[in-house]
Amino acid sequence: MKILIKDVIIKRPIVSINNKQNKITGIASILIEDASILEVYEEGQNVDIECDKIINGNKRVHAFVDLMDMHVHFRTPGQEYKEDMVTGTKAAAKGGFTHVVCMANTKPVVDNADTLKMLNSIIAEQAIVNVYPVGGITKDLNGIQMADIDEMAKGKIIALSDDGFGLNNEEFLFKAYLKGAEYGLPILLHCQIGDMDAYDRNSEIKAIETSLRILKKVADARVHIQHVSTKESIDLVHEAQKNGFKVTMETCPHYITLTHADIEKYKGNAIMNPPLREQGDKEYSIEMLKQNVINVLVTDHAPHSTEEKTGDKIMNGIIGLESSIPVTLSVIDDNEKMVEILLNQMSKNPCCIVGVPYNVGNANITLIGLEDKYKLDINKFESKARNCPYDNWTVKGRVIATICKGKVVYEYKD
Ligand SMILES: [Zn+2]
Repeated sequence: MKILIKDVIIKRPIVSINNKQNKITGIASILIEDASILEVYEEGQNVDIECDKIINGNKRVHAFVDLMDMHVHFRTPGQEYKEDMVTGTKAAAKGGFTHVVCMANTKPVVDNADTLKMLNSIIAEQAIVNVYPVGGITKDLNGIQMADIDEMAKGKIIALSDDGFGLNNEEFLFKAYLKGAEYGLPILLHCQIGDMDAYDRNSEIKAIETSLRILKKVADARVHIQHVSTKESIDLVHEAQKNGFKVTMETCPHYITLTHADIEKYKGNAIMNPPLREQGDKEYSIEMLKQNVINVLVTDHAPHSTEEKTGDKIMNGIIGLESSIPVTLSVIDDNEKMVEILLNQMSKNPCCIVGVPYNVGNANITLIGLEDKYKLDINKFESKARNCPYDNWTVKGRVIATICKGKVVYEYKD
């Protein structure tokens, strides 16, 4: 299968198999054969090639490789009424992501080799984008017994995490760092002190302090702090980075677009953990994202049913795969900056953290019309869930097509 992507804008040279060293930027065309990027052509070069499909960027659409959402919940196995591998990966494709990293809080939890094997077979049969499972650090993510990390490491996990729960047992944290270092796996930490209210910002700050203090004892461990929500958290991680520690951090579109005050308006669809914070935290997060101090942008895509997001007991989390790029661009409001975020925090950085090859000639390509302005309609989402606060938001930036392993897995139709 040959696909020609004609007249797109390239800002960072895209590696091709036939010319790995090409330095082509600006208007270009990309030839894909099967799962590889065969050739990149400069504007003016003859691209009269016989192909199975041609996608035209009309000199206005940008091309990116290996876009990754490093933090999603696909709810399979066990809670397929919320999302499954088919709808989850369709949502990823529509949102422009060719790689997603799935957290372990499924039912059963991915904390042993058998469940991992089951998940890997679901991925092999149903996923239309690249899906990488995370293994739990503790059994059932309960924080009181270590999971079988050795067995899972022999399977196919990309990282270790108890995401959703703060791991407050310092001995386990230390053990997890050692296992991470042994197997070359990053430790993804949801930082929250268990017996403190999540709405108390110190719950997150204190947990980050602890995780960094223990990192000093394990030089080879790599730690990634998930969804930092406060200004102090960002400063703590940044300071540790400047002191040479192998620690990175992520934020999500909701922390740069909404504040605590928005809960009144969006109700359950503005409830997540960590919770939305203050205006100052939001502005600081935007600035630190722009400066590439915050290393990764993820969605923490967390599908729930309507019943679970209304009523007395509201579950934490919102979906984000299909709104991430436009919502982020709308708040960044600067195409050049957004291109940098797409090139770094949404592809190169997360790929590097979890060890997925970035820009090596694999045909994982996303085409985005950064100038396209439109209204988000959550009823058109591929996700099963609708717990999204951005319905009817006027946004900028549209995914025109997503190609994964050489196959068109999403194409925008008017
Ligand atoms: Zn999560």
